[in-house]
Amino acid sequence: PQAGIISISALLKEVILLTESEVLMKGCQIVLNAIAGELYISVDVKQIKQVLINMIRNALEAISDRLDDTTGRIELGAYREGGEVRIIVSDNGKGMDVCTMSHLFNQFFTTKENGTGLGLSVSDRIIKNHGGRISVSSRINEGTSFVISLPLTPGFT
Ligand code: ADP
Ligand code: MG
Repeated sequence: PQAGIISISALLKEVILLTESEVLMKGCQIVLNAIAGELYISVDVKQIKQVLINMIRNALEAISDRLDDTTGRIELGAYREGGEVRIIVSDNGKGMDVCTMSHLFNQFFTTKENGTGLGLSVSDRIIKNHGGRISVSSRINEGTSFVISLPLTPGFT
């Protein structure tokens, strides 16, 4: 992997710029919640962006699959927890049941007619390769939150 140091706020802003047209075309919103302080990570920036873009695309699909007419909303945020940063990607899409949740990171697992089931398995591997992990919480008809934990770059915080 190509290591580069990037601030979390710069990373999240770039990801929003890259996905905003898709989000707006679907009549959804994407917002960046305020981040306390500057947090830096030393990562393969392209790979981490890909993980976040995958999660945003999944969020848009979960929003489209929601049966009522709630306005779709995706929130990005981040905070520091000890020597780690936690990046949150949450949506108010259709959510998922515990069975889906338990297979989420399996290669080729998909609930979509035209899904590949690759996005989250690849994302999980990328984050593990960076010394981090992904966790998820979800409620049917309320939404889903993914939390990506990554080691902070020492000396930059
Ligand atoms: P794909 O998008 O091709 O189905 P992924 O690996 O990206 O593959 O996702 C696997 C499955 O996880 C999806 O098919 C879906 O059931 C579930 N999923 C992922 N993200 C969300 C989300 N934000 N809300 C609800 N379900 C999700
Ligand atoms: Mg996907």
